[in-house]
Amino acid sequence: MADDPFENMLAQMDRAEEYADVDHGVFERLKHPERTLKVTLPVELESGEVEVFEGYRCQFDSARGPFKGGVRFHPSVSQREVEALAGWMTWKTALVDLPYGGAKGGVICEPKELTDRDLERLTRRYTEGIRRMIGPEVDVPAPDMNTNPQTMAWMMDTYSMYEGYSVPQVVTGKPLEIGGTPGRVEATGRGVSLVTERLFEYLDRDLTDATVAIQGFGNVGSNAARLLDESGANVVATSDVSGAAYDPDGLDVAALGAHVDAGGLIEEYVAGDLRGSAGEGDSRWDDPDAITNAELLTLDVDVLIPAAVEGVITADNVDDLRASAIVEAANGPTTVAADKALTERDIQVVPDILANAGGVIVSYLEWVQNAQEFSWPLETVNAELERRIGTAFDETIEQYDTEGLPDLRTAAYTLALERTAKAHEYRGLFP
Ligand code: GLU
Repeated sequence: MADDPFENMLAQMDRAEEYADVDHGVFERLKHPERTLKVTLPVELESGEVEVFEGYRCQFDSARGPFKGGVRFHPSVSQREVEALAGWMTWKTALVDLPYGGAKGGVICEPKELTDRDLERLTRRYTEGIRRMIGPEVDVPAPDMNTNPQTMAWMMDTYSMYEGYSVPQVVTGKPLEIGGTPGRVEATGRGVSLVTERLFEYLDRDLTDATVAIQGFGNVGSNAARLLDESGANVVATSDVSGAAYDPDGLDVAALGAHVDAGGLIEEYVAGDLRGSAGEGDSRWDDPDAITNAELLTLDVDVLIPAAVEGVITADNVDDLRASAIVEAANGPTTVAADKALTERDIQVVPDILANAGGVIVSYLEWVQNAQEFSWPLETVNAELERRIGTAFDETIEQYDTEGLPDLRTAAYTLALERTAKAHEYRGLFP
């Protein structure tokens, strides 16, 4: 089951059903995506070869508004994974009360093996494949794993070429020059940092010098590391596909960020091969140790932040976990079996649909600015992000405390399911 993210999402829903005030018929309806389109994408690569890729767009539920969700490029993309991720987008937008439903897209590919031109062609072909089902009021894609503002620019351009005029509002996470918003790139990491601060306040613990291990140092993990470091927390470990860096006294997050931004791997950073000048000769920073991704997950830290892929905290390793709290920056990192064990051990988990909602919140703010043909300064965007994710955090805590729920995920799911079900009940069944 751990291998199937869709089964895991359904099991999370089932766990919340007994506490949620939702009609069983509507609940059953919420377990099925509205539709999933599968597209075949032949692309002529820069090498001259033609490769046939497979892509998907799942639109899970639109009762609360237009579909919203990212597009990921990854070898492990599958229809089931995209459908699970679209479901999680539905619960996420409901929990943070955005006027959206949930969707997700993906293409099975290994971006590291593709040139920039290959990626542009693949993105444009994928956009053409799904263009009849997206649109500013229909379904609004955004970045996810291995996609970025440039990918969104190609999607926006391809869609606009077919429409015959510029349609910035069709995607979010765009470069600033074509209707992006300040603060979008770091928004998910900022949200992760904000909810970690709130969690510590709630637990009446001090975040200053609290030790943090972050699995994954991509856009989300690296920004969360930087912002938590600025908040006074002590980031002691982080990783990428090549391995993990660990220093019990704390990592030089700025130097690590510069190294990875320049295209370096964490393995090389630990080996010292390409360590940036920030680390050189600065006696504050020791050489970090090389550990594995699996070891990172079981470090004795105050907070563990999985910020990579699904299904990394499972029945197999949950008993070895020593973190006292988990903040889920990735989508679906914990299986339901592991979740139950964490609840029994009283380890607080801030669930993904709350912890990583900063990205879609700022996507919404970008979409609103595009609709208004107006732009806001970074301070306005960040203040609105903090207000919205803070409200969702407080509502989740209130639900958890007053309803006597087993854990924060169940609290978040009951709120999200009730809001989505209410929308279905008001709208009724067509015809
Ligand atoms: N891909 C992000 C997520 O999983 C952001 C989606 C969006 O901004 O629409 O939440």
